[in-house]
Amino acid sequence: MEATPPPSGRKASTGKVYLVGAGPGDPDLLTLRAARLLMSAGLIVHDGLVDPAILAMARPGARMVSVAKSRSRHTMKQEEINALLVREALAGNDVVRLKGGDPFVFGRGGEEAEACRAADVPVEVVPGISSALGAAAAAQIPLTHRDHASIVSFVAGQCKGLSDQDWSGLAGKGRTLVIFMGLATSAQISEKLMADGLAPDVPVAVIENATRSQMRVLRAPLAGLANLVEGEKVKSPALIVIGNVTAEPDNTIRALATEALEAQK
Ligand code: SAH
Repeated sequence: MEATPPPSGRKASTGKVYLVGAGPGDPDLLTLRAARLLMSAGLIVHDGLVDPAILAMARPGARMVSVAKSRSRHTMKQEEINALLVREALAGNDVVRLKGGDPFVFGRGGEEAEACRAADVPVEVVPGISSALGAAAAAQIPLTHRDHASIVSFVAGQCKGLSDQDWSGLAGKGRTLVIFMGLATSAQISEKLMADGLAPDVPVAVIENATRSQMRVLRAPLAGLANLVEGEKVKSPALIVIGNVTAEPDNTIRALATEALEAQK
C-alpha cells in the first residue's frame, strides 16, 4: 500500500480507508490497484457479493470481516459498517473496504465516504467494473449500439420504494434499461414498464452470476419476465436488461428487416 503523508492537522497515526470495487466476480476482472491493495491489506471488510476466489487473494493472516447483506438478513447495519471503518482507521489501521462491482454504483459507498470524511479519516475510492458493464460484456450484449440504443439507465428494482420511483421514458426505442436487485420484483417491474407504454414483446435478458463459471443468460419478452425468473429459478446476483440490444443477434437482424419493410409500406 502506498504511504500517503497525512495532511497537516490530522493525527499521523490515523489509518486510511480504501473503498475498493471488486468487479463483477471473476478475479481476472479486478483492477491492478484493487489486487495490490487486497494482497497487502491487514484488514479487509467485505460484503457478500465479493467472490470467494477474490477473498482468497488476501495475504495470509489478514483480518477478514464479513458485513454480508442480503434482502432478508442484515449481518451488519449500514451505520455499524460506517462506524467500524471509522473506528479502525482512527485506531491507526488502514482498511480495505471491498465491494462487488463499483463502490459508487448501488454500493452505498457514498455513505461510507461521507462517514469517513465527517470523522476526518482519509478515504480513497478505487473504481471497479460494475456488474452492469461486466455482465453485459460477458453476455455479449452491447449496452449501446448505433442501430439500437444511445441512452442507458441504471435503476434499483428492490421492493423498497419501487412503486414511488418514476421510470417513465427510461425504457423504449433507442434505450437500454439495466435493473439491479430486481429479481424479487420482476412481476411488478414488467407491469410498471408496460403501464408506461412499453410493448409486451420488448426483448429482455436476465444475466445471473455474470462472469462466474455458473453464469446464465436467459431471454424472454417483457411480458414473460416474471415467468422466466420463476420458471428458471433465477438466483441473486442477477441483472435484468431491457431493450432491443438484448435480442439474440439473429432476432435483431430479423427485427431490423421487419422495421425496414414496415417503413417502406
Ligand atoms: N456495486 C455493485 C452493485 C451492488 S447492488 C456493482 O457495481 O455491480 C447488488 C446487485 O448487483 C445484485 O442484486 C445484482 O443485481 C447486481 N450484481 C452484482 N454482481 C453481479 C453478477 N456477478 N451477476 C449479475 N448481477 C450482479
